[in-house]
Amino acid sequence: MSDSNWKKGLREIVGAGQLLEDPILLDSYGTDGYTLEKARPSAVVLPADREQLHAVVSHLYRERVPYVARGAGTSLSGGAIPLDGAVVVHLSRMHQIRSIDWYNRVAYCEPGVVNRKLSEALAPFGYYYAPDPSSQQACTLGGNVAENSGGPHCLKFGVTLNHIKQLEVVWPNGDVELLGSLADFAESVDVKSLMVGSEGMLGIVSGIWARIVELPQSRATTMVLFDDVQEASQAVSAIIAAGVIPAALELMDPLAIEAVERGVYRVGYPPGVAAVLLVEVDGPAPEVKEEQSLITHLLGKFPTRDIRIARSAAERELWWANRKTAFGAMGLLAPRYYVQDGVIPRSQLPSALRKIGEIGEHYDIRIANVFHAGDGNLHPLLLYDDKDAHMVQRVRQAGSEILRMCLALGGSITGEHGVGLEKMEELTWQMSPAVIQAQWALKNACDPEGLANPKKVLPVGSTCLAELSSDVTRVK
Ligand SMILES: Cc1cc2nc3c(=O)[nH]c(=O)nc-3n(C[C@H](O)[C@H](O)[C@H](O)COP(=O)(O)OP(=O)(O)OC[C@H]3O[C@@H](n4cnc5c(N)ncnc54)[C@H](O)[C@@H]3O)c2cc1C
Repeated sequence: MSDSNWKKGLREIVGAGQLLEDPILLDSYGTDGYTLEKARPSAVVLPADREQLHAVVSHLYRERVPYVARGAGTSLSGGAIPLDGAVVVHLSRMHQIRSIDWYNRVAYCEPGVVNRKLSEALAPFGYYYAPDPSSQQACTLGGNVAENSGGPHCLKFGVTLNHIKQLEVVWPNGDVELLGSLADFAESVDVKSLMVGSEGMLGIVSGIWARIVELPQSRATTMVLFDDVQEASQAVSAIIAAGVIPAALELMDPLAIEAVERGVYRVGYPPGVAAVLLVEVDGPAPEVKEEQSLITHLLGKFPTRDIRIARSAAERELWWANRKTAFGAMGLLAPRYYVQDGVIPRSQLPSALRKIGEIGEHYDIRIANVFHAGDGNLHPLLLYDDKDAHMVQRVRQAGSEILRMCLALGGSITGEHGVGLEKMEELTWQMSPAVIQAQWALKNACDPEGLANPKKVLPVGSTCLAELSSDVTRVK
């Protein structure tokens, strides 16, 4: 490909100012929320609307230039890192909520709409968009679709997949297609759902029709303080076993509590608290009252330090802000943190927590735990200093060992952060070669030239990892 030709073509589509080539700017697109690796794109292109986006993809196809879609770059598995000198197709200018269909309860959005902005726009009308990743102040709906994102309030209502009615997709050859439907019917082969969670490697989502739901009539948020994190994890299992599905059930351990209490949204937990459990129930007022009293009754069987019920919306919001900023608050404890994302059966929470503690001790790494406890979705946060090469190596090993533990307990190597470039090897621990081959067949059918988000997600045996190392600058 001639460098000048494909760049000239992109400039003609988006305008000169919307094609970034300055090396300093390019470097700022070289990473995402996964801090262990980085790679420089050959350019960054910022389409203004769907027509420009479709033209950009068609042009890149004609010129056989690889690319990676980027929303807000909050991926925690390196999904938005541009390997192979891929062009970054940054969708931040496509941030319009195009229309709201109240009759069908669907919002039609551009892919760059920030998750939280949608709920904020709907709130005055008594509606919201349910999936709420903790990064919702920044992450985009396009990124949420690509990662099939979850969030604290996905326990009761399901993850992104359950909230997407229709998608407009631009395939890697530039063809545009609508997948799914605004009508409620079961498709025999549900291609739309294949796009959800495909991490940008099958095509780019250029329009999203998202289900919107009514704000609950009533809500009760309980904060439970424990002196022992094991007791807290047993309480989680007891609540689920009793048949209550709260809207959210979230747990933080002592190191996570230390971080959030140094952060901006301090709750003022009493000294020495070893675990904070947040339990939220919502729905019609009588149902909330009944579930709340059942939960209080169940918690009464555990040696809790304190049980508090939020007295106002402001108090509830403070508790959630405290929890949702836990990842960022890790920066107050160490120069860097590496978030793991594994899943275990809920009943295994106590033993998983014990094992994570042992792994941290073995590798001499401090590990904080913040997790979507109701889903058994663990987020151990491994604290490290990127200037200490030996420590970086130990962090990688400890992270891998945590994932092996999740699999040994009958869980998964990822709950919601995806595979990206981080977990390609780990995918082979979980999936058989036949299942990986089947996914390759799908990738090749959609993207025979291998242009969309190259060298991500699907491993190609040992050569894949060898090739990968030549593209990526490992931080250490
Ligand atoms: C502090 C913090 C908290 C987080 N909490 C959660 C959480 O609670 N739950 C959770 O699930 N995740 C969480 N995440 C991870 C991350 O925010 C999500 O994966 C999010 O969906 C990524 O959105 P994004 O817009 O930043 O996407 P990006 O990081 O820009 O991209 C992610 C992937 O999606 C692809 N992509 C982006 N847009 C498109 C598109 N339009 N079409 C096709 N592919 C596309 C990219 O190529 C890449 O592979 C958290 C991250 C951080 C930093």
